[in-house]
Amino acid sequence: MKEIEGKVALVTGGSRGIGAAVAVRLAEGGADVALTYERDTVRADAVVDQIKNIGRRGLAIQADSADVAALTAAVDTTVGTFGGLDILVNNAGVFIVGPLDDLGPAELDRTLAVNVRAPFVASQAAARHMTDGGRIISIGSNMAERATFPGFTLYVLSKTALVGMTKGLARDLGSRGITANLVHPGPTDTDANPADGPNADAIRGFTALGRYAEPRDIAATVAHLAGDGGRYVTGAVINVDGGFTA
Ligand code: NDP
Repeated sequence: MKEIEGKVALVTGGSRGIGAAVAVRLAEGGADVALTYERDTVRADAVVDQIKNIGRRGLAIQADSADVAALTAAVDTTVGTFGGLDILVNNAGVFIVGPLDDLGPAELDRTLAVNVRAPFVASQAAARHMTDGGRIISIGSNMAERATFPGFTLYVLSKTALVGMTKGLARDLGSRGITANLVHPGPTDTDANPADGPNADAIRGFTALGRYAEPRDIAATVAHLAGDGGRYVTGAVINVDGGFTA
């Protein structure tokens, strides 16, 4: 018996990178998986094909996380299509970095809308449908613990907000048997942070393991929290960062 057999999951930003790895890993664990994406229909459909090849139901939903109505509708579509919702993974994020003076109100609003408002809105909407055993797992960043480089003020600001949100959700939802946790990836080889990018060697040098994570390394921890391993874990922040913050 697979640990999350028959559960229903929704992963935001599941067309590429960490979100795609999480979607596939949850399907391997036995879940039916819906995923949202912003633009890349081709890659979103390819992830759904992978989910179906595993033998689970999959669904791609175009929904900009900054659009509250679209995001809420994605939750409702997931519930309507699969008959419930047990696992929400708040993964979609934007990475807007640069010198402090270049980060204006538009960059601030976009960062807060996608990285902070969306996880709150999706968690609130998902929790309305969840029952005992429900799981809310958000993807933050280990930079919430160590900013490391200049230029990251907005990004770190947004990811740090998820620490508070996760602790609050744990308290709000604990009496219903629903857990909320936050996974903090370190450098992970994706389009947003390629392991062969211009600053990759410097970034790698901060890790104890001397390498980038693969997206599946983050997905494995999410799957652990989604399954029996997460039964008594809530309000927690878990670094999956190769010792970057050690
Ligand atoms: P990628 O850029 O590789 O992928 C981003 C995914 O999110 C895509 O599926 C993209 O969809 C989707 N997405 C982006 N913006 C939106 C939006 N507004 N609405 C809906 N979907 C959206 O990112 P990563 O996989 O690297 O990052 C995933 C998460 O992990 C983020 O929250 C990031 O902050 C966090 N993280 C990543 C680290 C890393 O080193 N990679 C380190 C620490 C944290 P589409 O394909 O349509 O564009």
